[in-house]
Amino acid sequence: MNAPDFRLSKQRKVILEKLQATDSHPTADELYTVVREIIPRISLGTVYRNLEFLCSQGVIQKVGHGGPQMRFDGNPEPHAHIRCLSCNKVADVKTPLAVPELDELQSMGYLVLGVNLEYVGLCPDCKKKSEAETVVHTH
Ligand SMILES: [Zn+2]
Ligand SMILES: [Zn+2]
Repeated sequence: MNAPDFRLSKQRKVILEKLQATDSHPTADELYTVVREIIPRISLGTVYRNLEFLCSQGVIQKVGHGGPQMRFDGNPEPHAHIRCLSCNKVADVKTPLAVPELDELQSMGYLVLGVNLEYVGLCPDCKKKSEAETVVHTH
């Protein structure tokens, strides 16, 4: 009788485990590929729904609001991210940052629940590549 419920919670558990096992901030598509190795019949829609649910429960969080695709983070603690504008890789900024709080005037009547801090730039690989290209073009 409870089989469908059990299957759902198993799917959710696998999705969560796979997300928490990586710090690469995967997209739903990337996570889907990994989860399918364990649950071959899972659909992308199911992965999405479970990710949305886990976000709404504060178990995981979304990142990369500036990127082309939503990315997910198994770490729900507030932390800053740094994103590569070339390959869209997202990394955690490990050192805690002092984020200025908004006063009443600055928050304009909003109830502030958190802050998304995202640095953008070039990752070490892309930086190397762009430097190599620069050398070719400027000889
Ligand atoms: Zn890059
Ligand atoms: Zn993160």
